Amino acid sequence: MTISTTAFEQLKSAFPSKVVTPDAASEYETALARPWSQTCWTPAAAYVFLSNTQELGEALAIVKRTGSKFVIRTTGHNPNAGFSSADQTAIVLDIRQLQSKELTSDGIARVGSGNTWGEVYAWLEEHKRSAIGGRDQQVGLGGFLLGGGMGALPNLYGTGADGVKNLEILLADGKLVNANANENAELYRALKGGGSNFGIVTRFDLETYPLINVQYTINLYNPEDYVEIIKATIAVQEAMEKDPKIGLFTNFNNGFVAVGLIYGDTPAEGPSPFAPFDNLKSLMVNAVPSTNGTLLSLAQAMGHAQEAKKRTIGTVTTKVSQELYEEVYSLWMETCKYLPAGSVLHYTIQPVGSAGVQVGRDRGDNVMGLESVPQCWWVFTCEWPKDDSDDAAAQKAVDTMVESVQSLAKTKGLLLDYLCMSFATGSQKVLRSYGTDNVKRMQEAAAKYDPEGVFQELQHDGFLLRNNI
Ligand SMILES: Cc1cc2nc3c(=O)[nH]c(=O)nc-3n(C[C@H](O)[C@H](O)[C@H](O)COP(=O)(O)OP(=O)(O)OC[C@H]3O[C@@H](n4cnc5c(N)ncnc54)[C@H](O)[C@@H]3O)c2cc1C
Repeated sequence: MTISTTAFEQLKSAFPSKVVTPDAASEYETALARPWSQTCWTPAAAYVFLSNTQELGEALAIVKRTGSKFVIRTTGHNPNAGFSSADQTAIVLDIRQLQSKELTSDGIARVGSGNTWGEVYAWLEEHKRSAIGGRDQQVGLGGFLLGGGMGALPNLYGTGADGVKNLEILLADGKLVNANANENAELYRALKGGGSNFGIVTRFDLETYPLINVQYTINLYNPEDYVEIIKATIAVQEAMEKDPKIGLFTNFNNGFVAVGLIYGDTPAEGPSPFAPFDNLKSLMVNAVPSTNGTLLSLAQAMGHAQEAKKRTIGTVTTKVSQELYEEVYSLWMETCKYLPAGSVLHYTIQPVGSAGVQVGRDRGDNVMGLESVPQCWWVFTCEWPKDDSDDAAAQKAVDTMVESVQSLAKTKGLLLDYLCMSFATGSQKVLRSYGTDNVKRMQEAAAKYDPEGVFQELQHDGFLLRNNI
């Protein structure tokens, strides 16, 4: 199905300077090449740049009236093609300009969903406050918070979604409503992890804290020392159960293992929770020296390489086990042998402790069905140059890792159902992984707030109830 002439005419008439189609070659190319992954650099029927909720409401009414397929885009950081990018069969509704920011007297940050975390952190720091968001400053609020969102200190503050007090959301019938613990409470819970199934979120109201001070360092180790690196990772992961200020990631990469040691405080010299890493002889370089900073400086230090590449990701959640982690390493080494030239497959151990799960429960719970055990949210990433012939091989490498780790963990009784939306490949059943009760919650919310099924039928792709349960 292609977009009708009527839809183009109505959009161009409503927003004469905001609809970009192929005839505006340079603007069109820029819009097309916005996403983080080149797998999403596909030519959409049109890009419509909306500046406020009124315009967004009008655009949604037009796509609905004309039965046009659409996607919502904030920054385009999700690497799954068709989620915030489109082909000729769909229109991209770009809401990056929804960048309002207001701090209420009771410390709630009301921020437009087009903001990036870098923008929100920087603005809040001017007010000596912090909110819980992403570890990369360029990622947008929209996809991150609607998918749960893992921050630098998940055990202290829970997921990003757990810190959302209220969402302003544009429903399919054109109404702008609030969802919070008292108003549209079932929608509120469904939105804490349930993605773009219910409407377009225009504003997130976030809990803020007095400026959060963080101590962090990033070390690069020699991968040949993987057994000891994994031992240290697990020791720190175990320590998290007693000290929720500990944050960690261990990234196995091409020729190095990057370990991020993060602490939600700035202690002076003393016994370090990261001592298990101190004696590793395989330290190659201290990539980020120990720094007393903030969530903003941490996100700046941790920023991923932004050069244009094709990228695909996949995720698994497991319990913690030295044996499993070592076998994953061996699987990775084996899978790397079959990568096309120029491709890099890397993976990250992202620990979450039971305290982090409890934070969500204490705040009225989210819809993700997290189990209260120490766990690892694995993310497998393949990056490769823009050469179409390699797409299938790169995806196969990630799929192989996901399937093999799942089956290995299952055999050992270590597999957990949950799949984190932030790190999942498009075909993974993220919503199903939340469990039957939560799927029912999301279905009921969708039926109540979008009875005509606009977000199921007209949304081009995504982790949608129509295909993900
Ligand atoms: C470099 C990098 C670093 C990252 N770091 C982290 C991290 O630290 N922790 C973590 O959890 N994840 C992280 N991610 C994953 C990231 O959170 C997801 O890719 C997320 O989907 C990006 O959201 P976005 O709004 O920026 O992107 P987009 O691609 O624009 O949107 C993502 C999805 O959300 C939908 N969507 C966006 N906004 C709205 C809205 N307002 N209403 C309804 N639907 C909406 C879109 O339609 C799309 O399906 C990272 C990703 C990258 C590329």
